Amino acid sequence: MANTPDPTLIWFRQDLRVEDNPALIAASSFEVPILAIYVLDNETPAPWAIGGAARWWLHHSLKSLAATLKTYGIALILRRGRAETIIPQVARQISAGAVYWNRCYEPFAIAHDTAIKAGLRDFGIEAQSFSASLLSEPWTIKTQSGTPFRVFTPYWRALSKDVRIPRPLKAPSINQKPQPAAGDRLEDWNLLPTHPNWAERFSDNWTPGEAGAQNQLKLYIEDALVDYPETRNLPGVNGVSRLSPYLHWGEISIRQVWNAIALHAGAGADAYLRELAWRDFAHHLLWQFPELPQKPFAERFSAFPWRTDAKALRAWQQGRTGYPIVDAEMKQLWATGWMHNRVRMVVASFLVKHLLISWRAGEDWFWDCLVDADLANNAMNWQWVAGSGAARRLITESSIRCCKAKNSTKTVAMSDYGCLRSQLCLIHGFTNLGWLPPIFCLGQIFAWATTTPNPSSITRRPDHALNPPWKISYADTGGTKLSPFPAWYSP
Ligand SMILES: Cc1cc2nc3c(=O)[nH]c(=O)nc-3n(C[C@H](O)[C@H](O)[C@H](O)COP(=O)(O)OP(=O)(O)OC[C@H]3O[C@@H](n4cnc5c(N)ncnc54)[C@H](O)[C@@H]3O)c2cc1C
Repeated sequence: MANTPDPTLIWFRQDLRVEDNPALIAASSFEVPILAIYVLDNETPAPWAIGGAARWWLHHSLKSLAATLKTYGIALILRRGRAETIIPQVARQISAGAVYWNRCYEPFAIAHDTAIKAGLRDFGIEAQSFSASLLSEPWTIKTQSGTPFRVFTPYWRALSKDVRIPRPLKAPSINQKPQPAAGDRLEDWNLLPTHPNWAERFSDNWTPGEAGAQNQLKLYIEDALVDYPETRNLPGVNGVSRLSPYLHWGEISIRQVWNAIALHAGAGADAYLRELAWRDFAHHLLWQFPELPQKPFAERFSAFPWRTDAKALRAWQQGRTGYPIVDAEMKQLWATGWMHNRVRMVVASFLVKHLLISWRAGEDWFWDCLVDADLANNAMNWQWVAGSGAARRLITESSIRCCKAKNSTKTVAMSDYGCLRSQLCLIHGFTNLGWLPPIFCLGQIFAWATTTPNPSSITRRPDHALNPPWKISYADTGGTKLSPFPAWYSP
């Protein structure tokens, strides 16, 4: 082991915390200086380089982590480029005896971790990785016949029965002589949008960093956990934890959340722990099917004749479809970087089942707009909504049932009509007024919806009754929140 005076380098990625951080804690058990590094690698993930909203989060999270590490005397080195090149390079520059990191499970991460490990060992540098971000690593839970699970319920049963979730580790006690931090300046990475600053309202909603994560968990347990089985279905109620970005960036560990929730035994905790397991299941699926973000899990969907309709896609992205709940939520996504799970399902269903536009286009948009954008979770859920995934949703939710598009013009028209009507019903229970059209306009929409005899002939959508983000031209966004769109999509 690295019982040597050479420093240990901790490579931070989606584990931007000091508590329950196995790599950092392992390093702290030796009497060696510790240095830390974060590499902004836009090349290795190729189309899955960090999206616009997540870059905003990363900026603030790194700032917070650097401040915490400073109290230990640990410098956080910032470097940009291919991690595969930079990690061995920096390790040699600082004459590291060891490099430790916590594992990530994206296909590109698995590939380059293996290469980096081999490269470091060739230079005689110890390389160790640790399990830190899932309840159970993707390859550990198997069916009785030894194959990976493809369906959530038996996976959840096996996880609850066979996996003992460890208690989280305490933050290390480190008090070393401060190390100099040679590297980039965070500001020079330009992670924050400026022209225009579409993230100006993000800070009203989020406090990235470990302290923000702990606070969010505490408030959630005190205020809402007990009612989770019911309130998690109500987008207008503060009934969910909003922990997803903190979990994605590892500012809080899944084991910390699991253990804290499990202390409050009851229906709320049971339902919540099951949701946490969905996150693990997504990683389990991505690990067994690395093409999940690009290809339908169910092969027969490969030939699905998706529509190419750049105008409709843009209307969906900008929240100007004319369907109040879809538009309200797409605006919320743009303005806050987050959306409630139930309405993620509604807007996703609208795109794939109503507009018949490929889930890949929606997945790309979410990737760029979500602060919690996560390759496994995003891909699994989009495929789930599209019906092409391992776990798939036949659209039965009353809120979205009538959005289901059929091939016949007549049924599309009928579903248009029914969809709008059902949304009007939904609005009654939907109190998230900040994102809804002005209340006085609902009457106009209602009149439009109930008096129109044949919605297929509608040319005048009630756009005048809604907020006007669609007046922003695509160019006005400064190309900021733009993820790599499929080749067929030209805005
Ligand atoms: C089309 C679509 C795309 C999605 N994309 C993402 C994504 O990129 N990143 C992401 O983290 N989640 C994604 N989700 C899952 C889910 O919507 C969010 O995790 C959840 O809304 C986050 O809010 P919360 O933390 O308040 O959730 P809570 O209801 O408080 O749930 C607690 C935690 O459980 C996990 N969880 C809950 N539901 C799911 C789920 N369906 N799948 C996986 N994990 C879940 C999350 O880690 C979440 O933070 C997507 C869902 C859909 C329908």
